[in-house]
Amino acid sequence: MKVLVTGGTGFIGSHTVVELLNKNYEVIIVDNYCNSKRNVLHKIYQITGKSPTFYEINICDFNSLEKVFKKEKIDAVIHFAALKSGADSIKDPGLYYTNNIEGTYNILKLMKKYSVKKIIFSSSATVYGDSQNVPIKENETIGNVISPYGMTKYLTELLLENKTKQTNDFKAISLRYFNPIGAHPSGLIGEDSPDNIPNNLILYILKVAKKELPYLKVFGNDYRTPDGSGIRDYIHVVDLAKGHIAALNYLDKMKTNYDVFNLGTGKGHTVIELIKTFEKENDIKIPYQFVERRPGDVEISYADCSKANKLMGWYAEFSMADALRDAWNFAKKTRD
Ligand code: NAD
Ligand code: UDP
Repeated sequence: MKVLVTGGTGFIGSHTVVELLNKNYEVIIVDNYCNSKRNVLHKIYQITGKSPTFYEINICDFNSLEKVFKKEKIDAVIHFAALKSGADSIKDPGLYYTNNIEGTYNILKLMKKYSVKKIIFSSSATVYGDSQNVPIKENETIGNVISPYGMTKYLTELLLENKTKQTNDFKAISLRYFNPIGAHPSGLIGEDSPDNIPNNLILYILKVAKKELPYLKVFGNDYRTPDGSGIRDYIHVVDLAKGHIAALNYLDKMKTNYDVFNLGTGKGHTVIELIKTFEKENDIKIPYQFVERRPGDVEISYADCSKANKLMGWYAEFSMADALRDAWNFAKKTRD
């Protein structure tokens, strides 16, 4: 089976490519390296002994993308390629709508033209907004998003759902990721953007661990949580990657043409718990200071994953401690 992976050199995409190659899928990657490094393909080869076909293409460039669909006989698409910073999307919404929506639209048009009937889409827990019902189930209200980035995820979910209603044999799954962390246990691939600007908790912690920052700012000490810091569901990226294989298999068994699944661990951890676990697992002190809440942050977010467990037979296997060891292992190797 030939799978087109857009954004396949990125953080989650590269780990998913490894899992696909390990399961003997034929993989075609399209990426424009806007947020990934060129050495990732070699790292994928070092881990798997296999080289996926690669095209350096912007998915917004319809004509170049069409050449890929024309040349390769694609059976399914896993669509990761997107810009992903909520904060940046508030500064430049047009960039986010163009890249994430127009790019997706090109893919859908080409899938129709070349009779590709299966797609898995990278959605996000951000579509739930500040849901008060935790653990969050898939039937929770969505769309109350706080950023243009979140809106691109919500709109794409709607687009896919509508398209599966219009087209009889077109099947789509949206996977709503909670907070992906960690790295491949080999230490060869991980979260590694070319601009090296941290935009999530782990990347800030790694900067503190590397002594590139003096301390971590913990946003908020007055949330209704045991230590006052926010709660999230941190999932190891390898577990997340395996969720895509489970979803690919499930596409063939699905009775409906569209479905959506949470991918998380089902466990919520505070920022302070995460810091303490990082310190214990890696024997490194992470100095921190509480600062004001970050605007737009939700208080508590963790997944109910029972739907993915039951229907796709998928379970997160790694612990947060495993993920934090692997994240540091990768960061050390990259630094050295
Ligand atoms: P990433 O930035 O590491 O990977 C995205 C990849 O897509 C990069 O390699 C980038 O170069 C590529 N890309 C972006 N726009 C492109 C374009 N126009 N044409 C071709 N390639 C393009 O991000 P990630 O963390 O691996 O996220 C993958 C997907 O998962 C994204 O859709 C993201 O929104 C979603 N997601 C991520 C998180 C997270 O915390 N990492 C959480 C929820 C959802
Ligand atoms: N966070 C923090 N300091 C940071 C970055 C994040 O305290 O420098 C907190 C943030 O308030 C949230 C959690 O860590 O409670 C996860 O934040 P991240 O940006 O990684 O993910 P998201 O907010 O998108 O869930």
